[in-house]
Amino acid sequence: MSFPRRPTLSAQVGAVRIGSDAPVVVQSMTNTDTADIAATVAQVKALAKAGSELVRITVNSAEAAAAVAPIRDRLASTGVNVPLVGDFHFYGHKLLRDYPECAAALAKYRINPGNVGRGSKRDSQFAEMIEIACQHDKPVRIGVNWGSLDPDLLARLMDENNASAEPASAQTIMREAIVRSALDSAQQATEVGLARERIILSAKVSGVQDLIAVYRNLAARCDYPLHLGLTEAGMGSKGIVASTAGIGVLLAEGIGDTIRVSLTPEPNGDRTQEVVVAQEILQTMGLRAFLPMVIACPGCGRTTSTYFQELAQRIQSHIRHRMPHWRTQHEGVENMTVAVMGCVVNGPGESRHASLGISLPGTGERPVAPVYEDGQKTVTLKGEHIAEEFQQLIERYIERTYPKREPAP
Ligand code: SF4
Repeated sequence: MSFPRRPTLSAQVGAVRIGSDAPVVVQSMTNTDTADIAATVAQVKALAKAGSELVRITVNSAEAAAAVAPIRDRLASTGVNVPLVGDFHFYGHKLLRDYPECAAALAKYRINPGNVGRGSKRDSQFAEMIEIACQHDKPVRIGVNWGSLDPDLLARLMDENNASAEPASAQTIMREAIVRSALDSAQQATEVGLARERIILSAKVSGVQDLIAVYRNLAARCDYPLHLGLTEAGMGSKGIVASTAGIGVLLAEGIGDTIRVSLTPEPNGDRTQEVVVAQEILQTMGLRAFLPMVIACPGCGRTTSTYFQELAQRIQSHIRHRMPHWRTQHEGVENMTVAVMGCVVNGPGESRHASLGISLPGTGERPVAPVYEDGQKTVTLKGEHIAEEFQQLIERYIERTYPKREPAP
């Protein structure tokens, strides 16, 4: 691991450990109606297959709560045991009380302290959810979100600030209110009886600078594991860039024990993209390895045909497609790197640093493609079938380099 991690407690969520020296965990969330069991099972499966290590589902109604245990059972019957996290808001205490099978089937409860109830009901409803978590021996994520920040707490801090001799900015108070909401709620949960090792905190905001400031503050003031994510990150490249900027800075400071990239999918878009991006953040930062990395040059005036882009894309797809099989067969294959370069000017240099590298002929160059394996030139491909032959070389390289896993007993 390249960055020293902030020391934290460690929380067990199903079979997944979060915090301390455990790898940073990738999470995702479904966007199906949880009451629609078939659709939710299908999406959880897809997210788990893409590599999500925890999947959160919303539990926002009696129908949704009644569906949780059947969802868990149906997943288990097809060998999908990814821990499910229930997301509760205003009626969470009631749903957990009325649907004990739901409370038992979930591996963790996510409670937003700004959405557990108003006024005098807030504390008792929060306490009831924590008591149920204790009865079922479940961990809890106390997840503050600044879109639903506890208005009483914010108003109190604003009043105190206005009365002080040197008032801070409204933004500073807002950030403090988010941190205080998380810490006070964690304190309340321990007073109700939840073990400190059963608590994970998050404090999601939608601005990158706010995210960094809030989490630095939170990290300095507690030793709970932290779940990172930018809320409402947005669509497409904007969402990816904003999430990566915020999460990346914090991870580089050793802050963050689980992450989620909250992307708004395109209509009918692929929900699993958020898992792929989260994995890529962790892998490109050198924190974890999930699948072999393809290093491709950006192309320039030397690559006037599209062949080079097509090959890079084809190799990337081949690796993603084959990885579920390779993972079960070959230990360490996720650490392989494959370079696909557009010409022989810079290509061989980059190829030498990769496990396997190919340099395609650039404009005006001889139609040959030298291949390097572990820094040595091994073969030169030419003709119509360079892509197929390179894929075969990758397969042979894996067979030769990564030991076969022992079959499960
Ligand atoms: S490797 Fe060659 S084709 Fe790719 S960017 Fe560099 S000079 Fe251009």
